[in-house]
Order: sequence, then C-alpha cells, then structure tokens
Amino acid sequence: MSKLSKEQFDAYLKQIRELAEGPFEEMQPEIEVTNVFPEEFYELAKKNDLYRFALPEQYGGWDLSELEILRVQEEFSRGPGGMRMHLHYAADLNWRILDDYGSDELKAQYMDKFQDKTIFTCFALTEQSGGTGADIHTTAEKDENGDYILNGEKWLISHTDCCEFAYVIAVTDPTKTGDERLSAFFVPVDTPGYEVTPMPHMMGARGAAHTGLKFTNMKLDKKYLLGEEGQGMEIAIHSLSVSRAHIAASNLGMCQRMLEMALARANDRITFGKPIATRQMIKREIAEMQMYTHALRCMVYDFGREYDADPNGKYIEEKAAMCKLFSIYSTRIVSDGMLEIFGGDGYFEDSPYGPVERMYRDARAMWLEEGAPNVQRITIARNCQKFGGKVEYQL
Ligand SMILES: Cc1cc2nc3c(=O)[nH]c(=O)nc-3n(C[C@H](O)[C@H](O)[C@H](O)COP(=O)(O)OP(=O)(O)OC[C@H]3O[C@@H](n4cnc5c(N)ncnc54)[C@H](O)[C@@H]3O)c2cc1C
Repeated sequence: MSKLSKEQFDAYLKQIRELAEGPFEEMQPEIEVTNVFPEEFYELAKKNDLYRFALPEQYGGWDLSELEILRVQEEFSRGPGGMRMHLHYAADLNWRILDDYGSDELKAQYMDKFQDKTIFTCFALTEQSGGTGADIHTTAEKDENGDYILNGEKWLISHTDCCEFAYVIAVTDPTKTGDERLSAFFVPVDTPGYEVTPMPHMMGARGAAHTGLKFTNMKLDKKYLLGEEGQGMEIAIHSLSVSRAHIAASNLGMCQRMLEMALARANDRITFGKPIATRQMIKREIAEMQMYTHALRCMVYDFGREYDADPNGKYIEEKAAMCKLFSIYSTRIVSDGMLEIFGGDGYFEDSPYGPVERMYRDARAMWLEEGAPNVQRITIARNCQKFGGKVEYQL
C-alpha cells in the first residue's frame, strides 16, 4: 500500500493536474511544429516525480497501489497527448518488463536507474511486413558462442529519441509456427548494427518520437535475453495486460477534461437568446458524455482494486482488455460530443476553453496503443469463453 497519506496523495494529484494543464500545455504549441520535447519537459517530469511514482520502493519508487497509480495517470492525461504517451510508458512497460523478466545481473545493474530517467527504453514489436505477433520477421540467430545476431526492421516505435535500451521481440525458432517462435531482448541502443529510420509526423500526440528501427547483423550478448527463449510473446502480452488498463485511465482523464470544456462552452454560448446548455438536444449530448465517463471510471477503478487484491488474478487480463476497449468507445462518444457542442469553433486551434481540436487528434492514438480494438475483443472473448461468462468484482 501507498506510503503517502491521503492528504499527501490528494496534493500530488492536484500538483500533476496543474502541471499538465499549465506548463505542459504552454510548451505544446512549439512541439506541435517541431515534434520534439524540449529538455525542460523531461526536467519538469523528473522534478514532479513522474518517473518515480509508479515504481516499487526498492527501485526508488513510492509503492503506490495500482488504484493510486491509475489515478495519477488520469491526471497527467489531461495534458498534451505526446507527453501523456511518454509518461504512460515511463510508468509501466518501461521498467516493468525488465523487472518481471530480466536476469538478476541485469536487474542489479539497471532497475534503480528508471526513477530519474538515467535510463529509458522503447518497446519494439510491430513490423511493416507482417501481423503484430507470431507473424513478425526480425530474426535473432544464435552464433557459436550462444550469443545472438539480430537482423530485421521495426515500425511505429515510440520514444526512440530518448532511450538507452530497446525491448525487441524477434524470431529465435523459425521452425515453430506459433508464439513460441519469439523471444524478447533488452538491447543497448549503442550496439553496432542498431539504426533508427525516419517516419512521417503523426496525426496527434506530437513529441513522442515515432520511428522505425533497423538491425543489421547486430551482435548481442546472450545476457540480454529476457526470460527464456520462446517466451517473447508471453512477455509482450503479460506486460500489456496492466498497460491496457493504464491506457483506459488515460482515456478517462481525457474524457473528463473534454466533458468539462464542453460544459463550460455550452453555458457560455448563446444562440437564439439562450445558452445552448438549456436546449434538450444539448442536454442529451451532455448526459451521454457523462454516462460514458462515469462508467469508464467505474471500470478503471474496479481494475485497480482487482489488481491490488491479486496482480495475477483470474480476471486481470480480461478486465484490462475490457477497460481498454470500453475506453475507446467512451473517448469516441465524448470527443465527438465535445466537437458537436463547440460547433465550428471546435474545428480551430487556440480555443479559450482548452485544446479542443488538439485533444480530438491526440485521442485517436488510443485506438492503436497497446493493441487495436480487435485484439481487445479477441482477448475478452477468449477469457469469457474460458470462464463461462462470469466476472467477479472487488467490492
Ligand atoms: C501512436 C502509436 C504508437 C505506437 N507505439 C508502438 C510501440 O512503441 N511499439 C510497437 O511495437 N508498436 C507500436 N505501435 C503499433 C501498434 O501497436 C499497432 O499499430 C497496432 O498493434 C496495430 O497493428 P498494425 O498497425 O500493424 O495494424 P494491422 O495489423 O495492419 O491491422 C489493421 C486492422 O486490421 C485488424 N486486424 C489485423 N489482423 C487481424 C486479425 N487476424 N483478425 C482480426 N482483425 C485483424 C486490426 O485490429 C486493425 O484494426 C504504435 C502505434 C501507434 C499508432
């Protein structure tokens, strides 16, 4: 459980909201053009403990409960989408994969270096030439010393401009047909043969650098294998289970802010002599936005309680996938509702109510991060069929 008192934790949540909607927002117009975070962003994130809050105490963290971590995520997600993406990754996959699957030697060397971003990672699974899973083509062949030679390419990879290591999923046994073909590696980015390849700018979430990666005869010491050979997909999925619920918490933070902006605008905007907030059709929009936001909050907080009761619990994977999928539906309803309420002004930058146009673009990244909607549906259906349609709750 958290080492912070309730008062300290509430004060921290307030501090993070003010940071996200204040200094972070002020930096974003320039980032929209450059697509690069200024050093000031990383410094502010460090100063406000955003690399530390989700870590266990033994690595310099705060030992917050999962529910508390989700609530912090909700607050920083009210700010710019690229920063949200960076901080989301910092709080989870970034350190969790090494903690769960790294050898004692690697963990002793690196686990205490995440707390202040001395090291940062990226996660490289997706490829242009195949499906995101057993269908990838990057290979890791063993040489005569038992070390690995990596060859291949990755695509759509976040955070490649600010990382010292890459978690890379590659094929170690091409004779197999299923997920057991794959293994995971912790790759120092200064390894000869590692190369970053450019990608076009994204629709939103600007600043969280996205590039391809290329590996050409990249020789990697066997100590960098994570877990066992053949565990690559399990490692990716195991880590994503928690991370998907964190994406849902991000969507919750965004929905809440979009709803608040839309309410303020609906009260101020007068047409035909009355605020549009008084019109029944606008109230219907507001009711839908509120209902989806509230239902999403219930699901996300339920996941937090479930995880705190047992991180390996029976329903964790299914609930995380349901949170992520429902959060996309919620974000669709709320971001569309916001634009409808803002009318034509919502289509332009620089609204006095907040970044309406940018939040709409930023939010679209959430469809893909940690797996497209169909991947969530497949996960939910598999678990639902396995457990006979039952899901229990932490009351
Ligand atoms: C902003 C952003 C950041 C990202 N960051 C990373 C990252 O850091 N690391 C990383 O590895 N990847 C990253 N990705 C990639 C992301 O994980 C993939 O985009 C996502 O998994 C979908 O894969 P794809 O783009 O190859 O789509 P495709 O595989 O081409 O799928 C297209 C559509 O078809 C559906 N589909 C595909 N196959 C099937 C099937 N067998 N059955 C049913 N439906 C199917 C998909 O659900 C999707 O709707 C990022 C993507 C974005 C947009």
